[in-house]
Amino acid sequence: MSFSRVTWNPQYDFATLHNWGCNFHCSYCSYKLRSGAAGRPGFAAPKPERFLTVQELKETLLSVKPGKVYFMGGEPTTASEIEEMLEFAKTELGAVTRLGHTNGSRLPLPYLDGANVGFKAWNEELHMKITGRPKSLIYDNFRAAVEAGLKMAANMVFIPELVGLAELEGLVRFLAELNPEIPFHIMGYIPVPGQTWRRPDAQEMEEAMQRCKQYLPHVNCSHLSSEEALNLEARDDRFKVQIIAGA
Ligand code: SF4
Repeated sequence: MSFSRVTWNPQYDFATLHNWGCNFHCSYCSYKLRSGAAGRPGFAAPKPERFLTVQELKETLLSVKPGKVYFMGGEPTTASEIEEMLEFAKTELGAVTRLGHTNGSRLPLPYLDGANVGFKAWNEELHMKITGRPKSLIYDNFRAAVEAGLKMAANMVFIPELVGLAELEGLVRFLAELNPEIPFHIMGYIPVPGQTWRRPDAQEMEEAMQRCKQYLPHVNCSHLSSEEALNLEARDDRFKVQIIAGA
């Protein structure tokens, strides 16, 4: 598992290193949207033909000198180069460093300023069923990251008949006890190939928002169709990026 692509958004002054690979096996993984890999559990993006070397990653970042360096892709902390690249981004570029999306299985990390953690469930058994990993690993890591002073955000995919209101409520109560200023995002489930779960409807999303706002002030949501999720750059110019290394 390693980085295969670097993208750059000059308007918002951030570069993103994209990893391939994940250590969880969520059945509804949104990476199936592009790959269409209905039968395989978990992360199912096609394997890149080539990975970038550390030297290539550093030279690429030096060519644009971004103010922010983000790490994405499956689970970015599974990339063997992540610690070296975090140190480089912080000490050589003076950049803000952030995991744009992570399952939280390896937090906190040296030279990391913040992370957006995608929680999967509050219930212990459900967490194990979805991810194949114990819940405590993620919740304890999140707490440690908050205590270490990282700027943290959280999200959860809302699937009414699988990850429902009780799951959302358990999580936001946990977050509110840690720090009520933590931003929380509810992602309405985006149907992926091979899964029978349905999207929440607008009323269910509203109900979820109201439930979470009982505990946290900074709650927002997204409610995208599969087609909309495949064309994010049309909705948000933060997704309008240039590929500056890899494919
Ligand atoms: S943690 Fe994220 S990338 Fe990994 S399998 Fe689950 S949904 Fe997919």
